[in-house]
Amino acid sequence: DTTRTPLMAGNWKMNINHVEAVHLVQKLSWTLQDKKHDFERVEVAVLPPFTDLRSVQTLVDGDRMKIVYGAQDISVHDEGAYTGEISAAMLSKLGCSYVLAGHSERRQYHNEDDATVNAKATKALAAGITPIVCVGEGLEVRKEGRQVEHTLAQVDGALAGLKPDDARKVVIAYEPVWAIGTGEVATPEDAQEVCAAIRGRLEETISPAVADSVRILYGGSVKMASAGGIMSQPDVDGCLVGGASLKVDEFAGICRYLD
Ligand code: PEP
Repeated sequence: DTTRTPLMAGNWKMNINHVEAVHLVQKLSWTLQDKKHDFERVEVAVLPPFTDLRSVQTLVDGDRMKIVYGAQDISVHDEGAYTGEISAAMLSKLGCSYVLAGHSERRQYHNEDDATVNAKATKALAAGITPIVCVGEGLEVRKEGRQVEHTLAQVDGALAGLKPDDARKVVIAYEPVWAIGTGEVATPEDAQEVCAAIRGRLEETISPAVADSVRILYGGSVKMASAGGIMSQPDVDGCLVGGASLKVDEFAGICRYLD
């Protein structure tokens, strides 16, 4: 569907120092500008650590960059005695367009379950921030051939109770855990199988119109060399990129997969 604008989102995780962060955003913006990148054709987002967001905001505003940005996590609470948490309102003040919800590393190391992911997505939407809901199976589930049912259950849980008008704004990232940070990228066909199943589920449980407008990304060891093949699949609307998003030329190359 040509009405879904592809999104390339770079998840920096807990990497690089503050000066490197500023530098990376500037270089990425300049590199894409040099190539006359049409940001309305392929949207480009970076997801730095919380501590970089204010500076990224200043850069993007000050230089009228067309890159957008967001955070890697969000609190399920609005405010109060939640030491260490960052609220939706705080992210909104920092100009965040996006926030990850339920990245596999959060699920694995911080015990985030589908109900938590649902609460985070709901808080983000209420603040006008687009949640990028991460789903995907681990290696055992893949070996058993249960990747579709496993991932669809996560999608159901993450979107439970959302009004269609909210659900249509959500971005879903299919990230098979065995492909994250391992260098083992899923084949375009593997990505398409699960992304198509996700869209089918949205059609069934919400509506065809919502299924048609939700962007579904693939994530897991995407590099410049693999982006084109993955993006050629009809139900893949972008990539969530970890490691390769820290290298300007690689990430710019992924954003320029149409070249
Ligand atoms: C991720 O963290 O979302 C990710 C896909 O990482 P990588 O690209 O490094 O596999």
